[in-house]
Amino acid sequence: AKAAGRNNYQFFTQKMNLAAAQHFELESSLRGALALGQFEPHFQPIIDITTRRVHTMEVLLRWRRPSQGLVMPDSFIPLLEENGLIVPIGEWVMRRACEQSMEWLRMGLEPVPLAVNLSPRQFMHRGLVESIQRILDETGIDPSMIEFEITETALMQHGEHTMEILGRINAMGIRLSIDDFGTGYSSLAYLKRFPVKKIKIDRAFIKELEESAEDRAIVAAIIALSDSLQLSVVAEGVETEGQYALLRAQGCQYAQGYLFSQPVPRVNAQNLLERRAAA
Ligand code: C2E
Ligand code: CA
Ligand code: CA
Ligand code: CA
Repeated sequence: AKAAGRNNYQFFTQKMNLAAAQHFELESSLRGALALGQFEPHFQPIIDITTRRVHTMEVLLRWRRPSQGLVMPDSFIPLLEENGLIVPIGEWVMRRACEQSMEWLRMGLEPVPLAVNLSPRQFMHRGLVESIQRILDETGIDPSMIEFEITETALMQHGEHTMEILGRINAMGIRLSIDDFGTGYSSLAYLKRFPVKKIKIDRAFIKELEESAEDRAIVAAIIALSDSLQLSVVAEGVETEGQYALLRAQGCQYAQGYLFSQPVPRVNAQNLLERRAAA
């Protein structure tokens, strides 16, 4: 039994070493990725429920890792948050979004606001507001064409500091929305204290909308309360016509999900905007 225990232990440490080595390799590749131009923004439309036209595009980061293909953010954003690289990379995403928006404008496409995700770590960085201002100045973008999405959980951390930063961003004319709403145990009434214009109902409540009367009741309540607080509502993760029909009947204004489009690279996003103009 003792020998077996030792074998298990050896097996365990080997696995630990492998995991640590993989973690280290991931981290060092990530450190070089920005300079090597391996990040790319993808775009997913948020549509107006009544007209089914593109209303906003959310910018979602992808990492084109050599010999590994396209890496999704869930497998590297948490690490970027942990080691602070989200600060320069988040700034890069914001700049790319503004440049893209200006390029589409120059191409004569009907302007579409772009929504950029902001992580909690970026709020803790002293230079955030200044770097946003610099990007606005350098790209010449109209601030009303940019939105920031902040998760409910991020808002709840460091309350007063976050509130002050959000106030300054709002004063610049950039709109703010609450991401993943409903997962963070806060109340809409409390969130009303933040200068937020839009909430995005988390996909968890949309997934079983057709099957679950409870989820339908929760979503209806969120929509009703946001209406009375004059907040716009987006339903995330809409995948079926059934979900779409229910949301539409409940008076939800906007929806995002695979039913309309997956997140797509720049060129495909451009096609969506061209088709939007033709429609
Ligand atoms: P999120 O901000 O909640 O973004 C929505 C996620 O849901 C995206 O995953 C999107 O592809 C996915 N999604 C959209 N529609 C559907 C649907 O109908 N069904 C399903 N199953 N999923 C859908 P993605 O692109 O993998 O991004 C994951 C998360 O990574 C994002 O969640 C966001 O928290 C983070 N992220 C992505 N880009 C950035 C970024 O530039 N900066 C920061 N800080 N975080 C980012
Ligand atoms: Ca988001
Ligand atoms: Ca979300
Ligand atoms: Ca999320």
